[in-house]
Amino acid sequence: MKRIGAIILALLVLTGCGKGGTAVQEKKAVTSDTLYVEKIENLRDDFILGADVSSLLAEEQSGVKYYGFDGQEQDMLKTLAENGVNCVRVRVWVDPFDREGRGYGGGNCTAETAGKIGARAARYGMKLLVDFHYSDFWADPAKQQVPKAWAGLSIGDKAEKLREYTVSSLKTIRDAGADIGMVQIGNETNNGLCGETAVPKMCALYQAGAEAVRAFDPNILIAVHFTNPEAGNYSKLAYMLAGNQVDYDVFSTSYYPYWHGTLDNLKEQLSTVAEKYGKKVMVAETQWAYTAADGDDSPNSIGEELKYEKPYPFTVQGQSREIRDVVAAVSSLGAGVGVFYWEAGWIPVPGASWADRSPLWEEHGSGWASSYAAEYDPDDAGKYYGGSACDNQALFGFDGKPLESLKTFALLRTGNDAPKLADALDSAVVTVRVGEGFALPEAVPAIFTDGSRAETSVVWDEADVKAVSTAAVAQFVIHGVGDGQPALCYVNVVEANYLENYSFEDKDLSMWTITPIAPGAQADFQVKATDAHSGEVSLHFWDGAAVEWKCEQTVTDLPAGTWRVSVQGQGGDTGDDADIHLYVISDGQTYTAPMTFHGWVNWQEAVLEHIPCTSGTLTVGVYVRCQGGGWGTFDDFLLNPEK
Ligand code: CA
Repeated sequence: MKRIGAIILALLVLTGCGKGGTAVQEKKAVTSDTLYVEKIENLRDDFILGADVSSLLAEEQSGVKYYGFDGQEQDMLKTLAENGVNCVRVRVWVDPFDREGRGYGGGNCTAETAGKIGARAARYGMKLLVDFHYSDFWADPAKQQVPKAWAGLSIGDKAEKLREYTVSSLKTIRDAGADIGMVQIGNETNNGLCGETAVPKMCALYQAGAEAVRAFDPNILIAVHFTNPEAGNYSKLAYMLAGNQVDYDVFSTSYYPYWHGTLDNLKEQLSTVAEKYGKKVMVAETQWAYTAADGDDSPNSIGEELKYEKPYPFTVQGQSREIRDVVAAVSSLGAGVGVFYWEAGWIPVPGASWADRSPLWEEHGSGWASSYAAEYDPDDAGKYYGGSACDNQALFGFDGKPLESLKTFALLRTGNDAPKLADALDSAVVTVRVGEGFALPEAVPAIFTDGSRAETSVVWDEADVKAVSTAAVAQFVIHGVGDGQPALCYVNVVEANYLENYSFEDKDLSMWTITPIAPGAQADFQVKATDAHSGEVSLHFWDGAAVEWKCEQTVTDLPAGTWRVSVQGQGGDTGDDADIHLYVISDGQTYTAPMTFHGWVNWQEAVLEHIPCTSGTLTVGVYVRCQGGGWGTFDDFLLNPEK
């Protein structure tokens, strides 16, 4: 089944990650009898196929063992290198310890740990991306806390401190034996950096970091790092950096498919930055779950299947396809330099329960946060500290054995054939109103190893079906089997809704009236499941110019009583002066509930309660007035009687 080319080409693997000279290593051919990998045409030899391994030392100290494909215990980094990974990424915190020297967790990552991991990676021919958070713990869109020791510094002093710290850390890391290819100035810095949120101050800090790296070694690539490509503002961020003369080489992003929109949108965002500003582009973090299961009794960030759009099944093959597609997307952009898989080996530490594992997380920092982080991050780490939140997205199983998907990196250039088998079944959703009957689908789409789909008949579990009651609002899960694969059907029992076509899924939309108040096309019904709260269709708006419109439905012959009205909405960039609200007109009175949007698929519910209606006629609608560039969708209008 395997192509001869796979074996010949895999013999030569050039290491990427940086401007410096490339080392050629002899590698054993990687083969797979079960993994289907679609070939990526013209994937450059110097393309970075990277893996973040920040938690590695803490995991090993906790007793975690990793294995090679031959079943023998082996350095995880060696296994990565043998399977096509050519660069590793490690986060660096300034001082992730409390006054007693107890680690905050998340790997207790410092320049010292980066040096140790980088030196080991160099032995296998892999370069290092140093990911400076410029914080004592996690930095992301919600958190950009200043390091304890830098609190209260003026922006000038802080920039100087950051410069010195960058140089001394890089020296520590290189002296340990690491081959530094790239340095990241800040982590997911959309909303701040090192405690600063004003653009000129943030840019002064980026520039201080960049100058430090250039002075340390001009051959090292400098990366900036953002997230939320789905918000569509990367060109704005690059404009901000250019306008403030920030020096950098690579504009990098996180890309988690369940949160961050489509690959087409990602490509559009990155290519705009590459073309307009002449920068290289990269995905610095991506991940996909191979199972919905949790391996260490500490909740995972992804597991519940229905909460997110699911472009791939949660299978080893699904994980492989995600890696392949992200690499293909970035590589298709001429300026695309690489992709890093996040935390390839953050698997459960030994133990049978939380009680067994917690002392290991606390002592070695092998969980996402320890209780000692409470002093620095009281609201998140201080409350929810624990183990790995992504053990189900690693490239090693809970037992430390490598997953077949790890081979993807080595097989991208040649592709790999495998028998076309059903790999998973899509879940089904049935929505039923309280008191009504329901029917389960007879077939659901099966997803095959090559990503193709076909309807497959399913036998549903009789006991699960019998357990469903539509007497009250509830959700039931029904298990089934089709083509040898497990199937799931969610039955959602919802309140009686007196609005017609409340989710816009029926083709006849005549009961809804869109009224433009400003000139031009103001809103439409959009068919796009990723922007819909349920189903595929939603009420959508976007325009380059400011918009003002409303959309409503009038219901007649309502029984007397009081009513609860609600709608789901999501969107962004609507501006500070926007007026977006749900309204109800009943008995000559107008009731309104304001809405504020906070980004893509961050659904907000607007609710109006205790609305009296004696006339039997009631109008429900949404009104939107916002600046140009504002966007959003509304879905699932409910008009429920109150008991
Ligand atoms: Ca977990």
